[in-house]
Amino acid sequence: MSLYAPSIEKLIESFEKLPSIGHKTAQRLAFYMLDLSNEEVKEFTDAITNAKKNLKFCSKCFNISDTDPCNICSNTRRDENTICVVEDVRDVLAMERTHEFHGVYHVLHGSISPINGVGPDDIKIKELLSRIMNSNVKEIILATNPRVEGEATSMYISKLIKPLGIKVTRIARGIPIGGDLEYTDEITLTKALEGRSEI
Ligand SMILES: [Zn+2]
Repeated sequence: MSLYAPSIEKLIESFEKLPSIGHKTAQRLAFYMLDLSNEEVKEFTDAITNAKKNLKFCSKCFNISDTDPCNICSNTRRDENTICVVEDVRDVLAMERTHEFHGVYHVLHGSISPINGVGPDDIKIKELLSRIMNSNVKEIILATNPRVEGEATSMYISKLIKPLGIKVTRIARGIPIGGDLEYTDEITLTKALEGRSEI
């Protein structure tokens, strides 16, 4: 038998489903919510509902955005002939923080990982190819994470694109092996971008 009323129990359970939230923290958050005013709770739940409702994927680059195309793809000052390929929407933010990249992005939404049953068709590789076919892309910068999956994904894409006569580069290895672009500081990431090499 639970010590709590079912509705509190349910709230605790919901918090527990969030990443890195244990049972104790979930309890603390649940009771914190109960102490909030009705307006504060509404503001919080509205923020979640609206984010879920309004955010969509950009149909060009698959970045998450309030608009389609996203503000990067629709910015005429960005060089649409240089595409930086990343695994995750958070990697776009990491690259943007460097202020060094003026091209556009392509978000794969994952990396090839046979162990986890993720094949090339499960991520946005086909979409990248059709984007390349329908434009004058000059360079593809592969900025996948320096992990086994990220490397395999880069190699796979490189093999598909190189025969098309497009320059394919890979960001330099300033980023620790096994590291995440998302957690890499701006200077390291800027250096990695500058030191990219053709593959
Ligand atoms: Zn976009």
